[in-house]
Amino acid sequence: MAKKNDKGRFDNGPCPVCGRAVVSLNHITKLADGKEVCPDCVSKIRVMYPLEYVKKKGKKKLERQDPIEKLTLDEFRAAMERTPEYLEDLRAKYGHNAVYKVESIKMFPRGWFRPPFICTTGRVIFGYFDMNDEVEVVRKGASFKAKIYDIVRENVEEKGMDAWVRRGEGGYPLRWMVFSQKDLLIGPGDLIVKG
Ligand SMILES: [Zn+2]
Repeated sequence: MAKKNDKGRFDNGPCPVCGRAVVSLNHITKLADGKEVCPDCVSKIRVMYPLEYVKKKGKKKLERQDPIEKLTLDEFRAAMERTPEYLEDLRAKYGHNAVYKVESIKMFPRGWFRPPFICTTGRVIFGYFDMNDEVEVVRKGASFKAKIYDIVRENVEEKGMDAWVRRGEGGYPLRWMVFSQKDLLIGPGDLIVKG
C-alpha cells in the first residue's frame, strides 16, 4: 500500500502492475482492493473502461466516474492482457485507426469572413487525435474531410498539466474537439475518424 505524507502524494510505492514509482501529484487511480496503479498503466486499459464525467442534479462540478476503480488488481492485469485484441477488434469493426464520437456541438462565430468555431464534445472511442490532424467526418455513410483546430481534454485531474497537451486518447472524454472551416457540417452522433 502506498504511503501518503501530510503534504500530498509524494510517497506512493511502486505501481503493482509495472513496478515503476507511482509519481503523480494529481489523481491516482485506486482499485477496488485498495491498490494504487500508475497513470501509464491506467491509460493502457482505458479504452476498455471509458472514463465518464457525469453532471449530477443541483451540482455544478462534473463528477468523475471511473469503472477502473471497480476492478481488482487481478482483473486489472487480465484487462491489460486483453487490450491488444480488443483494439484489433475495434480497428476491424470501424475500419480506422482512431474514432471519436460527437455527442454535442456549440458554434461560436468569429466575425468577418472567418468560419465559426465548431466546438464538439464527445468521446474518443479508441486511438488518438492531435490538433491539426486531418480527419474525416462520417455521417450516415457519407464522409467529409476536416482538420482538427484544437483539442481540450476533460481528464485534467488525472493527467495534470499533461491534460493541456492537445491530444485525445481512447476511452477519455473530450471537453472540446474544435473545428473551424467553411461549410463543415457536424452534429451529434457523427464519427470523426482517422487513418
Ligand atoms: Zn504502472
